[in-house]
Amino acid sequence: MINKENYHLVLNRVESKEANLVAVSKTKPKEAIQVLYDLGQRIFGENKVQEMLDKQEALPKDIKWHMIGTLQRNKVKYIIDFVSLIHSVDRFKLLKEINKQAKKVNRVVDCLLQFHIADEQTKFGLSYEEGVALLESDAYKALENVRIVGLMGMATFTEDKNQVKREFETLYSYFKKFQQDFFADNNSFKEVSMGMSGDYEIALDKGSTLVRVGSLLFGARVYK
Ligand SMILES: *Cc1c(COP(=O)(O)O)cnc(C)c1O
Repeated sequence: MINKENYHLVLNRVESKEANLVAVSKTKPKEAIQVLYDLGQRIFGENKVQEMLDKQEALPKDIKWHMIGTLQRNKVKYIIDFVSLIHSVDRFKLLKEINKQAKKVNRVVDCLLQFHIADEQTKFGLSYEEGVALLESDAYKALENVRIVGLMGMATFTEDKNQVKREFETLYSYFKKFQQDFFADNNSFKEVSMGMSGDYEIALDKGSTLVRVGSLLFGARVYK
């Protein structure tokens, strides 16, 4: 089930750019995760709270679990004590809830702001202006149990490589601008999460530090 050859290929490319690989294991069984774990992979991405919880309980405790999917506020509490990075913060209310739950367990939880860079209406995310407004707000500045460590985005699902390039360039330019305007004294603002199975090489060329690759490693997903 695991394509080990692809794993090593992707890993080599990712490491040659000093980026990190998030192995997206959603819908895949624990056994498949264990196979990649045994090859040395430690970061896994899931998009559903219950599924992440089940896997986290059963699998080795040094796995870093990344939440990459749309997160409902009422479910934050279930993953707050172990989640390593939340990629999909696309509204202030969610960030506020993460902060509230993180405070209860005495953690500071790392988050990425998700931006809408694609053509498609179906992809979630903030606009540039909304991101600026969030970071400028006093309400954001008052949060002590979340740390914004970068940005995340998804390109349009298209054969048009130039469009994908432009969209990744856009996200990277937001990252640079935010770094300068809001995180100038903060070395932890350093992540640009972009690139999936179909476009991770373009993403790496455009400055990605975290690629989220699923089907290339685990095989195509079958949704029931
Ligand atoms: C499923 C998913 C991925 C991985 O997609 P593949 O095309 O299988 O590599 C990456 N990012 C997000 C947000 C996803 O939901």
